[in-house]
Amino acid sequence: MKVSIIGASGSVGCASALSLAEKEYVDELALISRKSSIDKIKGESLDIYDAMAAMGSDISIKSSSDMEIIQESDVVVLTAGVPRKNNVTRMELAKTNAKIIANYSQEIYKYSPDSVVLVVTNPVDVMTYVALKKSDLSKNQVFGLGNHLDSLRMRKYIAKHFKVHVNEIHTRVIGQHGVHMVPLMSLTAIGGIPIKDFMKYNYIPEVDEFDVEGTIKKVISSGGDIIGCKGATEYGPAYAISDVVKTVLRDEKKIFTVSTYLDDEIPGINDVCLGMPAIIGKNGVENVIPIRMAEEEMDEFLRAYRFVKENSIKVINDLG
Ligand code: NAP
Repeated sequence: MKVSIIGASGSVGCASALSLAEKEYVDELALISRKSSIDKIKGESLDIYDAMAAMGSDISIKSSSDMEIIQESDVVVLTAGVPRKNNVTRMELAKTNAKIIANYSQEIYKYSPDSVVLVVTNPVDVMTYVALKKSDLSKNQVFGLGNHLDSLRMRKYIAKHFKVHVNEIHTRVIGQHGVHMVPLMSLTAIGGIPIKDFMKYNYIPEVDEFDVEGTIKKVISSGGDIIGCKGATEYGPAYAISDVVKTVLRDEKKIFTVSTYLDDEIPGINDVCLGMPAIIGKNGVENVIPIRMAEEEMDEFLRAYRFVKENSIKVINDLG
C-alpha cells in the first residue's frame, strides 16, 4: 500500500514518515517537499532505510518536489504549511496556509484522484474545508485530523488520573481543533462505566477528586505547551496520523473524531468541517455519527460551529 506525505521536510511530516514506515502494511512511501528542502527529505529517507534495516523490514521510499511521485497513492497526508509558534493561535495561520492547501489539493486531484486525503495543516477544520472546496475531491475522501489528537490527550490525562490502562478510557473531544474544542464528558467512560459514577461513588478510593475543568484546560493548551518547550509537536501528531492511516488502509471501520464535512446530520450544522465521530474505512469517512450531547455541550458545539464557519467563509472569500 502506498502513502504520500506532502510537507515531509517538516517536524510532523518527518515523524509521520518514520511512524508509517514501521507499519508492515505500508510498502511504499512518497515524500514531497519544496525544492529548497529536497536534501532534507532525501536524508530522511536514507535515515529511515537504516531504521528499517534494524527492524528487519523493507519499504520503498521516493523523495521529490515533483508531485508526479504521489500517483496511485492509497492515502495522501497533507502536513505542508506554517506551524504555530508560541502565542500564535491556529486560526492566525489560516490565510497563509489556505493558499498552500488550495494548491496542493488541486495537485492531489490531478495526480492521484482516488486517494483518501488526510489534512493535518492548521487550522485543520478550515484547511479541510479549503481542500474540499478548492478541489474536485469528494467529501468522504477528504477529512482532517480534527480532534483525534485532542481525544487521545484527554484519554491520557484521565487514564493517568484514575491509574488505569489508557485503553480503558473511552472519550471524545469534538468541535474545533483549538480553543473551541468540546470534550464530551457526558459520554466519557472508564471500562464501560460512566466517568460521572467514578466521580460520584469514589470507586477507586486512593484517587483524588477529578478536576474536569482543569483537565479540559490542559488538553486545550497541550500543543502550545509542547511547542513552548521543544519548538514543535512531532510524535503525538505522527502517531495520531498513522493511527488514522492504518484504519483507512486496513478498512478497519474504527470510529475516530476527525474533521469532516457536515451537511445537517445535526440539524442546522452545515457547510462546515468540524470534529465529529465518524466511521473510517477504505473510502475515508464512511459514516458521520451525529452524536447526541448534553445541553451545555451542544451550546459549546454551536459556538465552535459559528467560529469555524465564519473563518472558513472568510478564508474562501479571500482566496477568490
Ligand atoms: P514545519 O516543521 O515548519 O514544517 C512545515 C512544512 O510545510 C515543511 O515541509 C515546509 O516545507 C512546508 N511548507 C511551509 N511553507 C510552505 C509553502 N509556502 N509551500 C509549500 N510547503 C510549505 O511545521 P510542522 O510542525 O511540521 O507543522 C505542519 C503543519 O501541521 C502546521 O500547520 C501545524 O500547525 C500542523 N499541525 C497540525 C496538528 C493537528 O493535530 N491537526 C498537529 C501538529 C501540527 P519546506 O521545508 O519546503 O519549507
